[in-house]
Amino acid sequence: MLEKVLIANRGEIALRILRACKELGIKTVAVYSKADKELMHLGLADESVCIGPGPANLSYLHIPAIIAAAEVTGATAIHPGYGFLAENADFAEQVEKSGFAFIGPTAETIRLMGDKVSAKHAMIATGVPTVPGSDGPLPEDEEEALRIGREVGYPVIIKAAGGGGGRGMRVVHKEEDLIASAKLTRTEAGAAFGNPMVYLEKFLTNPRHVEVQVLSDGQGQAIHLGDRDCSLQRRHQKVLEEAPAPGIDEAAREEVLARCVKACIEIGYRGAGTFEFLYENGRFYFIEMNTRVQVEHPVSEMVTGIDIVKEMLSIAAGNKLSFTQDDVVIRGHSLECRINAEDPKSFIPSPGTVKHFHAPGGNGVRVDSHLYSGYAVPPNYDSLIGKLITWGKDRDEAMARMRNALDEIIVDGIKTNIALHRDLVRDEGFCKGGVNIHYLEHKLAGQK
Ligand code: ADP
Repeated sequence: MLEKVLIANRGEIALRILRACKELGIKTVAVYSKADKELMHLGLADESVCIGPGPANLSYLHIPAIIAAAEVTGATAIHPGYGFLAENADFAEQVEKSGFAFIGPTAETIRLMGDKVSAKHAMIATGVPTVPGSDGPLPEDEEEALRIGREVGYPVIIKAAGGGGGRGMRVVHKEEDLIASAKLTRTEAGAAFGNPMVYLEKFLTNPRHVEVQVLSDGQGQAIHLGDRDCSLQRRHQKVLEEAPAPGIDEAAREEVLARCVKACIEIGYRGAGTFEFLYENGRFYFIEMNTRVQVEHPVSEMVTGIDIVKEMLSIAAGNKLSFTQDDVVIRGHSLECRINAEDPKSFIPSPGTVKHFHAPGGNGVRVDSHLYSGYAVPPNYDSLIGKLITWGKDRDEAMARMRNALDEIIVDGIKTNIALHRDLVRDEGFCKGGVNIHYLEHKLAGQK
């Protein structure tokens, strides 16, 4: 096993990784910015190191500071969590060049999946279904671009190869607008991502977001942990997730799960990963792969009983997967509500001091959060302050437990989106299951 892991992250995911390390008897190094001296996990780690001032580009995104912290503490491996440097191929490369194990895929894999055009090519080559579109970048030649648009059929979406976080995309409804939209997206992508390359795909009008969790040891063995539905989104940000995705065509599901596993083996994928798909009319269409642990990983843990972070640590230590696909049994249903420090109506972040925090409990309730009474949420980072997760023998039981847990939870002193979640778990459409990615925004627009 790994000896000493430096956790290059903050908040709930840093605490989550710390817990897994402690369970495995691995020593831990926490890093923090000057704005984060009050983080809960600092007191639980074996050592902690301040890596710079509050702004993330001077601390959590500052590669030399993190490598130096690993060197002075004698860490042997680095876990990047999600966000920050988790999908930065240069970081992964420097970590390994400096002699530490990177708890994630190789820099080469991160690079392959970070460019959406090369990621799509890799998927097509391994037989994972993708959205029909330009085979590679959209050509600058206008006639050629128009021909591709006509062939795919309108509406289409133009996407930046280097895009991420829901940015660098433009929907085109008619042929007259294609060339101007492509030009605009290229210019924006060049400025925002340093890469002007764009590609075109069919715009699916009412899809769901369904994704597949995988674990792969990079030594020829890979498994899936089933799927998750993350269709409840606002501005492409997930709000509430569940596993398994309700009401999916069984044959299509089996097929896509098997193809994701095959893709992992063929590209020599190492670590935990997620294949994200749009699902419409019984079919899956790959949109991107995330080469890291995801915020919503707990719902897959709850239905499989497998600890994804412990498996990541084991894989990074060079171990083969300790179980096979036959050992993975999907049991019951799980839901996760992302609790954010934000105004429930305007969604404006609401940092500040938590006067009182009460965590809910009971059978099948899990709270992944770094909150405690008196903790001051700093204004510098993402507004996620915790995740409320429930499990039940079926979706109804998981939902009833979530209703209870949301009634019990108390976060006083700052504004949160808990009221929105209380509403969502009583929403008729959501309770029925299978809503599409526009459902939440339509609901919120109707309430205005
Ligand atoms: P990012 O990396 O920025 O998150 P994605 O490729 O994952 O970009 O797309 C983000 C979101 O944009 C999707 O969840 C979906 O809502 C929408 N989207 C992307 N591609 C399509 C498409 N072909 N048709 C319809 N919606 C799409």
